[in-house]
Amino acid sequence: MQSKKKGNIFIISAASGTGKTTLVSRLLKNNADLRVSISHTTRAPREGEEHGVHYHFVPKEEFESLISKKAFLEHANVFGNYYGTSIAGVESLSNEGFDVILEIDVQGAEQVRNVLPEACSIFILPPSLEILAGRLKGRGTDSADAIATRLAEARREIGEAAHFDFIVVNDDLDRAEADLLHIIKAGRLKRQAQQAFLDGLLENS
Ligand code: 5GP
Repeated sequence: MQSKKKGNIFIISAASGTGKTTLVSRLLKNNADLRVSISHTTRAPREGEEHGVHYHFVPKEEFESLISKKAFLEHANVFGNYYGTSIAGVESLSNEGFDVILEIDVQGAEQVRNVLPEACSIFILPPSLEILAGRLKGRGTDSADAIATRLAEARREIGEAAHFDFIVVNDDLDRAEADLLHIIKAGRLKRQAQQAFLDGLLENS
């Protein structure tokens, strides 16, 4: 449902293998007033990924030109590729009244917190590091070395959870999705999010 009120910004971060993408897809499917910001990236599309749907896939030169034009709310180098959130993309969704999810890494989350302190940040944790290791191995796509590197990176990212507003443990998809939705709904009720309504109410009295 769209409204004239500006939508809120929700940052969702997690170490890879935590189920963040699955949870965000579920939220989008079940909530018509939520949108995810489609990031720009210089990484190559994976099988089944579409330009403009999963990412805006752009060459490095174009990405760097966008950086110099200050087109990004945040940008970071993740696993050797650039990723960034377009200011124009987020603004147009928020102005249409949609709550906007930024599914970004911990470096990007820190940048957004600095420029948009009102954004709500959520970190998704795996139930344990053993379970995360099992999930990464279960993908069957990485070598033992690559898995060890990803796990070390996961530990480092999880250490950053201390800077987030909320922590959701993904031990059960249904429960974690419900937890995320509670946070999003509570975000809509925050005084800052209702300030325009409050001002209007007093003006018209
Ligand atoms: P993947 O290449 O697997 O889609 O994403 C790799 C990592 O980059 C994930 O942690 C994902 O959340 C993060 N990521 C995706 N888009 C952005 C973005 O626009 N900015 C930042 N900082 N990270 C992003």
